[in-house]
Amino acid sequence: MIQKHNNALKTTLKDFNFMLFKGLIDLLFPQICMSCESALHTREDLLCTKCRFDIPTCDWKDAQDNLITDRLKGRVHLAYADALLYFEKGNKTQKLIHQLKYKQQKQISRYLGLWHGENLKQKAWFQNFDVIIPVPIHARRRRQRGYNQVEDYAKALSQVLNCEYNDNILYRHHYSRTQVFKNRISRTEVIEHNFKLKTNQSFDGKHLVLVDDLITTGATAEACFIQLSKLKNVKLSLLTMAVAA
Ligand SMILES: [Zn+2]
Repeated sequence: MIQKHNNALKTTLKDFNFMLFKGLIDLLFPQICMSCESALHTREDLLCTKCRFDIPTCDWKDAQDNLITDRLKGRVHLAYADALLYFEKGNKTQKLIHQLKYKQQKQISRYLGLWHGENLKQKAWFQNFDVIIPVPIHARRRRQRGYNQVEDYAKALSQVLNCEYNDNILYRHHYSRTQVFKNRISRTEVIEHNFKLKTNQSFDGKHLVLVDDLITTGATAEACFIQLSKLKNVKLSLLTMAVAA
């Protein structure tokens, strides 16, 4: 009994010391909010409470008729599409995505994946997905940035939604700007040529979900879906961190 009590006391002390230590570290090196840059409190993570509350979330009830399915209408046949956040020039989402893509704040990717995953599980339309596929980035871009900004988001989604993560289905290579001008082809066509299918595996009867950071015109997603549509008898859906409003 006394031993049990001592152990509980030790754990409490350990927790207390940890909180004290974290408090001290926070005081010396304050963590800042990835959107508004104000100092975070000990219990806040990446976003301050105000930004987490104020950041514009999509919260769509319908995954078959929304801003993304509208934007891709006639170009891609999607089973479902959903985005977590609305993106506008200068808004909180833009600041957050900017930190993720250009300021080495890789942890934002997983943060958004866990958030979006939990959010999806609450939706009435939600059914099981089979495979989560991140939009690949070109090897040179990956070297510059050090990571694919979509990867941890996709992995977190696969973890929360309990399905496979697979980054061996799509491949991205590079088309130089000179070639673009030389061939006088449209931007959409250029992006289309950037992606290739790199699998011989059968995904017969599977629900594949492409995952991207931001949908603006939808050209990148469309290019990926053109490749994924070559797989026989698959259902295709799209999840993104954000969509340009
Ligand atoms: Zn904030």
